Amino acid sequence: MNDLLLRGGRPWTPGSPLGTADILITGGTITEIGPGLTAPAHTTIDLAGALVLPGLVDAHCHLDKTMYGGPWVPNTGGLTLRGRIDNGEGRRDELGLPSAEYAANLLGAMISGGTAHVRSHIDIDPEVGLRGVEAVRAAAERYADRVDVQLVAFPQGGLMNRPGTGALLEAALADGVAAIGGLDPAGFDGDPTGQLDLIFGLAEKYGARIDIHLHDRGALGAWQYDLIIERTRATGLAGRVTISHAYAMGELAPDEQRRIAADLAEAGVSMVTCAVGDAPVVPLRTMRAAGAALALGNDGIRDLWTPYGDGDMLRRIMTVAFRDRLVADPEIELALRAGTYGGAEVLGLTDYGLTAGSAADLFVVDAETPAAAVVSVPVRTLVVKRGRVVARDGQLVAH
Ligand SMILES: [Zn+2]
Repeated sequence: MNDLLLRGGRPWTPGSPLGTADILITGGTITEIGPGLTAPAHTTIDLAGALVLPGLVDAHCHLDKTMYGGPWVPNTGGLTLRGRIDNGEGRRDELGLPSAEYAANLLGAMISGGTAHVRSHIDIDPEVGLRGVEAVRAAAERYADRVDVQLVAFPQGGLMNRPGTGALLEAALADGVAAIGGLDPAGFDGDPTGQLDLIFGLAEKYGARIDIHLHDRGALGAWQYDLIIERTRATGLAGRVTISHAYAMGELAPDEQRRIAADLAEAGVSMVTCAVGDAPVVPLRTMRAAGAALALGNDGIRDLWTPYGDGDMLRRIMTVAFRDRLVADPEIELALRAGTYGGAEVLGLTDYGLTAGSAADLFVVDAETPAAAVVSVPVRTLVVKRGRVVARDGQLVAH
C-alpha cells in the first residue's frame, strides 16, 4: 500500500512560510499538497499539526566499513590518516569486514531515522577487490524498497601509489557502480595530475559521478579545489563532481572562501561536509550565499576509523549546525537544507522534495519549527519511503 493521505501536517519548503496542508500520495508519488484534500480509497493518517520534512540524504558514509550492531571493538586506529588506513586494512579480515550483515544493520537504523537516500563510499584495493561492493549491494537489496543506496568506488588505500587499484575501480564502474572516488590527489597519492587524469577519464568513459575525499589542509587543499574546478569545466561534468570533507575550505580567509564558493557554483562542483572530529566544517553561509551545492553525511560510523556514530542524519545536521555556529533560525535551516535538498543535488536526484510530482519520501516530527527540529533531534514519529510507511516512532515497520 503506497497510497496515503497525510492530513493536517506542516510541510517544510526552504524559504517558504510553514502552513498546514494535506499531502496526497498515489503510487509512491506526491500528487497534491493543499488544504481539505479527500481520497476515500487512500489510507488516511492524521498528523495533527506535526512538522513534515523531506527524506534525509546521507551523502557521505562508509557502509562497507561499519561494524554497526556487532560486538564492541575498542578503537585502535589513532588519529592520523595513514594510521587509520593501515589499521582499517590490517584488521578487516579478522573482524569479518566488509559485512553485508553490519551494513544492513546500519541501513535499518538510518531508515528508522528518516534517511531516504544514502551515498556510500566503498573501499577498493587489490586485497579486498570488489568484496565491499558485493556486501553493500546485498545489504541494500534487503532494504531495496525502503532506502536508495548509491555507491562510490573509492581508492581508500591510494590510487597512483597502489598498483592494480585503477583497474579494479574501472571494473566496479563497468559493473554499474554510480560514482568514482579519489583520495587527496596531492597529499596522499603524491600525483595530483595523474590521479585526476585517471578519475575524470573513467568518469567520462562510464558516465559516472565523481566524489573525491580531500583532507589536505591550507593552501595545498585550496590548490586542489582549483584543479578539480578546472577539470570539471574542461570535461563538461558540471553538476556531477563533489569534493568531500574539504577541510581547507573551513580554515581559509573569508575572501578566499567566497572566491572558491563562487567558482564551485559557476563550475557545478559541490562539497560535502561531515563535521568530523575537530576538522574545520565547510562554511554553510558562504556556500549558500554563492549558490554552491553543499551536502552532509555521517562519514564513518562504528568502524575501525571511529567508535562513534549512530547513522542518525538529523543528529548529524545538528552537529554540523553546532560546529558552524549557526544560531539564527534561518541559519540553522541552512544545515537542514544541506542534509535534504543539498544531498539530493549532489546525488543527482530529479524527483526530490515536498512538491506535487516528487517521490513521496518524507518524515514527521513533533517540533514547532524546522530549526527546533534540528536542535532537539526529536524521535521520527512517521517515516515514509515512496509512499510506504517504513518506520514509526523510531522503529522499523515489519514488512
Ligand atoms: Zn569518508
